[in-house]
Amino acid sequence: MRPSWIEIDVDAIKSNARVMSAAIAPAALCAVVKADGYGHGDVPSAEAALAGGASWLAVALVEEGVRLREAGIEAPILLLSEPADGDTASIVRWNLHPTVYTPEFADALGEAVGASTDYPVHLKLNTGMHRVGVDPVNAFSLARKVAGDPRLTLEGLWTHFAVAEEDVEYTRRQTVSLLRFRETLAAEGIEPVIVHAANTAGGLLLGESRFDMVRAGLGIYGLRPGPEVGTEEPLRPAMRVVSQVAFLRTLPAGERPSYGRRRALGGRSLVATVPIGYADGVPRRLSDIGEVLIRGKRYPLAGAITMDQIVVDIGEDEVAVGDEVVLLGDQGEESITADEWASKLDTINYEIVCGFGPRLPRRYRGAVDGQ
Ligand SMILES: *Cc1c(COP(=O)(O)O)cnc(C)c1O
Repeated sequence: MRPSWIEIDVDAIKSNARVMSAAIAPAALCAVVKADGYGHGDVPSAEAALAGGASWLAVALVEEGVRLREAGIEAPILLLSEPADGDTASIVRWNLHPTVYTPEFADALGEAVGASTDYPVHLKLNTGMHRVGVDPVNAFSLARKVAGDPRLTLEGLWTHFAVAEEDVEYTRRQTVSLLRFRETLAAEGIEPVIVHAANTAGGLLLGESRFDMVRAGLGIYGLRPGPEVGTEEPLRPAMRVVSQVAFLRTLPAGERPSYGRRRALGGRSLVATVPIGYADGVPRRLSDIGEVLIRGKRYPLAGAITMDQIVVDIGEDEVAVGDEVVLLGDQGEESITADEWASKLDTINYEIVCGFGPRLPRRYRGAVDGQ
C-alpha cells in the first residue's frame, strides 16, 4: 500500500463534542456529519461525537442517514433538506427525522408513513439565508398542515444562519424572526418541542440563538468558523494528512523539478519525492505556495503538484526515505492548519477538509469508548 493516508483522531472529535456541549448547555448538541463527516468519516465521527455528548446527528442526504443506521447508530438523525428524489420510503424505513418546507413533501411524507403514526418532522423556516426553507408568509399554513395531519407531528422548528461567523446583528435578526414565528404558532397551540437555529458559529457567538439545540459541524472536527469564534478549552483539529518520503536525490542550483519546470532551485538541494498528489485532493494551486512538515520542520514544494506525487525542496538539510511527511496537521512543534491552506487558496477551512478524495484511506486513532 502507498504510504499516504488521512489520520483521524477520534479522541479529538469526542473531546470537541464535549467542549461544544459544555459551551452551549443546556441546549443539546446535534453533530452534523454530512459529507462523510466533513471528510473525517461519517460513522466514526458520529460515534465519537455521540460519545462526547452529542444527542442528535444531522445529514444532508437520505443515503448519508442510511449509512449511519446501517452501522447500527440509533441516535435521532435529522435530515437537513427535502430529498430531491422524494425518497420518503427510505426516510420512514430508516427512521430519519425529515425537514419539511413544501406542502408537497409534507403530503408525500404523510402517505409514506401510513395511518396515524405521528411521524416526527421538522419545519424549516427561511429567515434570511434564502437557500431552502419556507418563507414566513407561507410558513404558518404549512405548520398547520403538518400539525393537523394525524400521520405527522411537528417535532421541530428551525432556521439556518447566513453570516453567523461575521455579522452578529444579521444573525440576531434571523433569531428574532424564528422566535416571532414560534410565538405565532404557540398562539395556535402548535408547539414544536425542539427549536434550533445555530451552527457552530452561532452557538458559540450568540447565546440567544441556541434555543433547544445547536447543529454543529465544523467545531466537532476541531476547526473554527472564524478567528473570533472560540471555546474556553481549545478545539482540537482531528485530521492529519500524511505521507512518507519515497525517494531522494540531490540536484544542483538552477534545476527546475516537476511538470512545467516552474521554479529554479536557489542552491544545491536535496529533493524529496512524496507519493500524494492532486488526485488525492491536494489542490494543485498550492504548487508555488505549499509547504509540508518533515522531522518537525517546514519545507516548500519544489515545483508543480502532480496527480500522484509532490516534490519537496529539502535544501541542505537531511531527511531519509520513509520519513513521515505531514501535509496537514501537526508534527513535533510545527503545524499546518486547514486555515493556512484556506487562506493561501482564498477559500474556507470547510472546503479543505471536505476536499480529500476516496483514494486516501482514513485511519482512525484513539478509541471512542476508551480513554
Ligand atoms: C452544515 C450545516 C450546519 C453545520 O454548520 P457548521 O458551520 O459546520 O457548524 C448546520 N446547519 C445546516 C442546515 C447545515 O447545512
